[in-house]
Amino acid sequence: MVVAIDGPAGSGKSSVSRAVARRLGLGYLDTGAMYRAATWWCLDQGVDLADPDAVAHAVAAMPLVMGTDPADPTVSVDGTDVTAAIRTGEISTAVSAVATNLEVRAELRRLQRAAIGAERAPGAHSGGRGVVAEGRDITTVVAPDADVRVLLTASEAARLARRARELHGDAGDAAVEATRDQVLRRDKDDSTVSQFQVAADGVVTVDSSELDLDQTIDAVLTVIAQVTGTPA
Ligand code: C5P
Repeated sequence: MVVAIDGPAGSGKSSVSRAVARRLGLGYLDTGAMYRAATWWCLDQGVDLADPDAVAHAVAAMPLVMGTDPADPTVSVDGTDVTAAIRTGEISTAVSAVATNLEVRAELRRLQRAAIGAERAPGAHSGGRGVVAEGRDITTVVAPDADVRVLLTASEAARLARRARELHGDAGDAAVEATRDQVLRRDKDDSTVSQFQVAADGVVTVDSSELDLDQTIDAVLTVIAQVTGTPA
């Protein structure tokens, strides 16, 4: 089974996708982490992010390995574990510049499809049961033929408050203000190359504005059960 989940920053995609993958015994693929790894790699290689050809060239040669265990998803590049390093503010600020490069998108799309295919093979983490793949254009461009496609949304206020709590430990005015660039500016930049704010045909919307994490996980599991005709 392939479950594809997309949505804007702060919608809860990653936490929900990981939990759903664990619950269903599936692998987990975080495609955002691949764009973050590409950004880390370019900076590590001293590539000028304002030079699209140099960025595309570097990403085409990136030795990326994605660990798909939802209990411990890892990202490594050229043998270096970058799982933590790709979550810094520096990467979050720079990632859209790399992700809006169309050659980079074509290359990562290819790697993402290969990773999804690999999870359906017997030797994979899931033993071939399948994968939950999440990220901006997963339901529309990367895996439009996924068995279940979900758009996870939340109001702007809910997304800002969530990210502020994650990054600063509270959702007061100052913390929300400091988070604005990471959530709203990034979504605005990202929307120039992918559509993740409105559900495409056949994609089920789950609005998590009023739901906590457990309730959102349950809502997505219910959608999966309904779409695949299996008990939740
Ligand atoms: O989900 P996350 O915040 O880790 O994604 C980081 C960035 O990767 C996004 O801001 C976006 O620029 C890019 N991305 C993308 N397409 C995806 C997943 C992520 O462009 N499928």
